[in-house]
Amino acid sequence: MANIAFIGLGNMGGPMAANLVQKNHNVFGFDLSDHALKALVSAGGKAAGSALEAAKEADVIISMLPSGKHVSELYSEEFIGCLKPNTLIIDSSTIDAVTARSVATIAASKGCKMIDAPVSGGTGGAKAGTLTFIVGGKQEDFEKARPILKCMGQNIFYAGQSGAGQVAKICNNMLLAIHMIGTSEAINLGIRHGLDPKVLSEIMQKSSGKNWSLEVYNPYPGVMENSPASREYSGGFAVDLMAKDLGLAAEAGLETKTSTPLGNTALNLYRMWSEAGNGKIDFSSIIQFLNGELKVNN
Ligand code: NAD
Repeated sequence: MANIAFIGLGNMGGPMAANLVQKNHNVFGFDLSDHALKALVSAGGKAAGSALEAAKEADVIISMLPSGKHVSELYSEEFIGCLKPNTLIIDSSTIDAVTARSVATIAASKGCKMIDAPVSGGTGGAKAGTLTFIVGGKQEDFEKARPILKCMGQNIFYAGQSGAGQVAKICNNMLLAIHMIGTSEAINLGIRHGLDPKVLSEIMQKSSGKNWSLEVYNPYPGVMENSPASREYSGGFAVDLMAKDLGLAAEAGLETKTSTPLGNTALNLYRMWSEAGNGKIDFSSIIQFLNGELKVNN
């Protein structure tokens, strides 16, 4: 049993922390939202008044924050300097590799360890404890983290040195955005020609168009009982977070002079959808933008 500080108890962090409690770890959590803190307490964890209060006696700190800015603000030299020696920091937020490496360097300078461990699998995977973790950092720190990650996930990958987990994650999310948009286009086209979206989805799932968006995250309301589309695109992966990840992919492309034309198109579509006032709803709602159901600035 470990003493775990969990910072960022939102759509993903909340259920991940609850799974750690279920596996008998002591979870002391912090979030800016009272609602998120209350949910942790009702799951059996303890609520802290600040990130430092949660972290200072912890063996392991897990963070699940929106972006790199939040992560670098949390892990200042001052904050890490107050931790116990050898504290293991696991940052599961999706952020840029540069920030991940810089936090790892600060941690090492203060006698602590840090791995980047972004996840895939969505809020459903977070609740079910079936996430995929993609880890960058020292291999020995990865081995130390593995039993903790196993409490929240099913597939645990070592991608390479510090930052490698984040690079693999943004490659994955760029592909996810592209197949979500492609899946939405195909469903819209079928509907315009009189097909039932459920029947069409079933056909494509058993054909060469099969992909994760079709299998577990159908963007059309009512096709899949548990997908965000069937609860008005709430409680999933926000449009703004997807736009952030596509921005990270675009930056990574520029750094290495890699062409990512479909990734860049996906970035523009998600930015436009966000600017039309849809930043907080689930990213599968892009189907509504593509079918003209909710027009920009209308
Ligand atoms: P979210 O907005 O639901 O949760 C983020 C939480 O962080 C919020 O509860 C917010 O109050 C809290 N927070 C922000 N700043 C804080 C601070 N300084 N101290 C403490 N708490 C703070 O977002 P989410 O969907 O849980 O995503 C979190 C991360 O996971 C993001 O980096 C996202 O890209 C990544 N991710 C999300 C999904 C998904 O399906 N939602 C899937 C994979 C990865």
